Amino acid sequence: MKVVVIGAGVLGASTAYHLVRAGAEVVIIDPLREGRATAAGAGIVCPWSSQVTDPHWYALSAAGARYYPELVRMLTEDGEGDLGYRRVGALNVPADPAELDRLEARVRARVRTAPEAGTVSRLSPDEARALFPALREGQAALHIAGAARVDGRLLAAAMTAAARKHGAVTHAEAASLVVEGGAVRGVRADGAVIGADQVVVTAGAWAGGLLEPLGLRLAVQPQRGQIIHLHLPGVDTRNWPVLLPMTSHYLLAFDDERVVIGATREPGTGFDYRVTAGGMAEVLNAGLAVAPGLANATIRETRIGFRPMGPDMRPLLGRVPGVDGLVIGNGLGASGLTVGPYAGVLLAAATLGQTPEIDLSPYDPLRG
Ligand code: FAD
Repeated sequence: MKVVVIGAGVLGASTAYHLVRAGAEVVIIDPLREGRATAAGAGIVCPWSSQVTDPHWYALSAAGARYYPELVRMLTEDGEGDLGYRRVGALNVPADPAELDRLEARVRARVRTAPEAGTVSRLSPDEARALFPALREGQAALHIAGAARVDGRLLAAAMTAAARKHGAVTHAEAASLVVEGGAVRGVRADGAVIGADQVVVTAGAWAGGLLEPLGLRLAVQPQRGQIIHLHLPGVDTRNWPVLLPMTSHYLLAFDDERVVIGATREPGTGFDYRVTAGGMAEVLNAGLAVAPGLANATIRETRIGFRPMGPDMRPLLGRVPGVDGLVIGNGLGASGLTVGPYAGVLLAAATLGQTPEIDLSPYDPLRG
């Protein structure tokens, strides 16, 4: 079977990787647009303390976190093990200490069926600061040992590179669909037509326009996220845990003396690819409130990403009934680096006409 994948963010790259491993002939097309979400994503993998209550969101997110070690193993075997992935643990640090009890009850209920979350324990303020030295004083925490972080840029690039090693072909142009008699027969890119048995549209926040020739409406909007990377010269940040104040902001660290503070959530900006004064103020104020020890860090860079937001929290995944040759993956919203690699497994199975491990009916891609 020949498959073209339009868009190689975390979802498209994973879908392509799993398709090619299953024996499909795969073409990956992506011009790497400014603001692609995967390149800006923070990289926290910790679904167990989330306040999102939708069970279908949680099912995929939990499966996504569970799948990571297996994916890392596969990519390492393929010579692509540099992903910035590490299980550094997470410190949940709500400002109101009373919230820790509610949070602990929620997390303990969830991790009963998720051993990969690791040990869950309450930490005193001193214990928490020993793990994340920039944390504010007097802050108790709920620690989840199995939480991880990953570098979205490295991950997507690694899955694409590994797919190429298994025979996938890549193109760096923007693609559009070739539609004949209401069916998708391939794509057009750089003036040439590439025929395909199936086309997987994983074009993130840009995907809506691609489906217009079919008269289909995808209920996905871009949500801008601005995120700041700090440099702490001489500080060993490799094992700092993820810091979750249980608001929409958070902190995490990477190996290269880097701490990341995220992020704004700005609907209604369209594809306005700009760092704004208000966005920076919001993120820095939120970050320094919980981790004042970062006040003297160097601002290294800011990133902007457009989260593909669906009509609700659930991803949009699967074939489109009545439209031959079309598979859609989208709507990963604020948790695509957690869900995306595993969602790619499901999407690859659906593309090949197999039964995915998780029933995709709650994730109908055209619901609105
Ligand atoms: P994208 O990464 O946007 O990829 C879509 C791709 O399609 C792009 O590469 C684009 O170039 C390509 N494309 C578009 N149009 C075309 C076309 N016509 N032809 C070919 N290619 C095309 N998730 C977490 O789990 N944990 C986090 O901590 C986290 N933090 C985040 C922080 C920020 C600031 C942001 C913005 C997101 C964060 N996310 C996080 C969410 C996560 O990054 C996204 O959900 C995920 O990356 C979406 O992946 P995607 O592949 O669907 O879309």
